[in-house]
Amino acid sequence: MSVSAPITNISRGSLHDGRGIRTVVYFAGCQLRCAWCHNPETYTAARKILYAPIKCIKCGRCIEICPAQHKIVGDDMIFYRDGCTSCARCADVCPSEALSVCGTQMSLDEVLAEVEKDRRYYNISGGGVTLSGGECLLHSEFCRSLLSACTEMKIHTTIETALFVPREAIDRVLPYTNAFFADLKLADPIKHLAFVGQDNVKIIDNLRYLAEVAPKGSIVVRIPLIPTVNDDRAELESLAGIIASLADGVGEVELLRYNPLAESKYQIAGMKYHAFGDRAQRDDEMKRAVGIVRERLPERISVKFR
Ligand code: SF4
Ligand code: SF4
Repeated sequence: MSVSAPITNISRGSLHDGRGIRTVVYFAGCQLRCAWCHNPETYTAARKILYAPIKCIKCGRCIEICPAQHKIVGDDMIFYRDGCTSCARCADVCPSEALSVCGTQMSLDEVLAEVEKDRRYYNISGGGVTLSGGECLLHSEFCRSLLSACTEMKIHTTIETALFVPREAIDRVLPYTNAFFADLKLADPIKHLAFVGQDNVKIIDNLRYLAEVAPKGSIVVRIPLIPTVNDDRAELESLAGIIASLADGVGEVELLRYNPLAESKYQIAGMKYHAFGDRAQRDDEMKRAVGIVRERLPERISVKFR
């Protein structure tokens, strides 16, 4: 059993990651590279330092700790990432949280302690814990232990996954998972490879399997609608065709608006950003997409957007 896993964040009070009020545990590490990803800091499982210049008050403490990596240049505090060992000493002394650590190893007990804090709210709202990322199922043994402990405590459990994982990872968590959010981005494997960094064969195979073995209606298939990438009629029809062919584990499809506000996350992580437009889709655009998908699905599957 993995006794620890790299966690980038634990977010309490979420209303968008499953039913009721939820605590979301974000795991570090993902083998996909979606060009529109809005959590790029979770790409690798290794601990890393994030730097948000907008929060820097130029106190100079990081320069005292590590002068090779931090320098004032003109009016700006610059963080030089090359050569940084991610020891986190600078983040420890930064008074404004401009420097922070991403991907801290946490033990099962530490994560459980955070999850348990909101049990009262889970009971009131029907909520629980959601494991997300990154790709939480790259840490499936840790996930199984965490979900099993939550199940014993009667805390509702949900997994958000892109399903680019070994089949065994799904089998490990299945007995302890009440609901799934499973991403499906593109039907065309060549386009999928170009925009996501891997083709979609394993993902669709896993989704097909999950739809057979998961409880009826327990899977929400999530499609992020990316302008010019997968929002045309032909692609949406193809995606709907795949979903229509799945077993009855799938109960809902959710279309997600494009998020144009991810640029600052790339800046903080020191990564290059690629925009697919400067705005989220309007309601009428989302409703049009819902209509296209709806036409091809059986009645048992509902279609929503947000
Ligand atoms: S994490 Fe460590 S090595 Fe990296 S900049 Fe901070 S103090 Fe220097
Ligand atoms: S310690 Fe933090 S606030 Fe102070 S100069 Fe460095 S990054 Fe800026």
